Amino acid sequence: MQRILPHLSRLHDAAGRFSHWLFPERCRACAAPGAPLCAGCFGDWPRLPAERCSYCALPLLDNGDCLVCSVEAPAYDHVHTPFIYAEPLNTAIIAWKFQQRLDWTRPLADAWASAWGGHPPSRPDALLPVPLHRQRLRERGYNQSMLLARRWGNRWKIPVIPGALQRRRNTGHQLGLSAAARRDNLDAAFILRRHVPDHVAIVDDVLTTGTTAAQIASTLRDAGVQRIDIWVLARVL
Ligand SMILES: [Zn+2]
Ligand SMILES: [Zn+2]
Repeated sequence: MQRILPHLSRLHDAAGRFSHWLFPERCRACAAPGAPLCAGCFGDWPRLPAERCSYCALPLLDNGDCLVCSVEAPAYDHVHTPFIYAEPLNTAIIAWKFQQRLDWTRPLADAWASAWGGHPPSRPDALLPVPLHRQRLRERGYNQSMLLARRWGNRWKIPVIPGALQRRRNTGHQLGLSAAARRDNLDAAFILRRHVPDHVAIVDDVLTTGTTAAQIASTLRDAGVQRIDIWVLARVL
């Protein structure tokens, strides 16, 4: 087997070159030949300014904490994202998530990595993709956060722990609960099913309100996790 492996890998390379010759790579956004995302389209993606909230990455006039995070710090440490969820990036994310355009995984994940200069924005010991509801996973057939985590994990040699988090179906009615009980009910929207290291990054596609990130982070904090980063493709403003 050891002796066959190099031959197999050469064969694989040759097959890759042949299919590349048959079907040359094109930019997913503008169809220009060359790379899965051309420099022009990459440059068009809206960037978050450097001055932002140290927790939730909300753009600010200066670096510091936003009003919401300074009143009550979220359970996570930092949101890391270079992009704003807006045109034309959101069109790409929508096609990738909702129109089975899995060919977007590579350009999206790699553009995110390039935006940090090819280095990871932090050095977590594990990546935890946000799980999809079972029903949604069945309909879609893939979990986009898992695809991102795999790509980044491979690139930076960070283990991905797929089944670490589980979404709990929220069957409890919110009505009639006190504010504290309602919060507890939401906090327990995720269950930690595996042991995870002290420093982890939760991987998600888009940070919308930050509720999901905060819910997962509080579950992880309860389990004793020390540092929790959020790696997301883009942030809604
Ligand atoms: Zn392009
Ligand atoms: Zn904030």
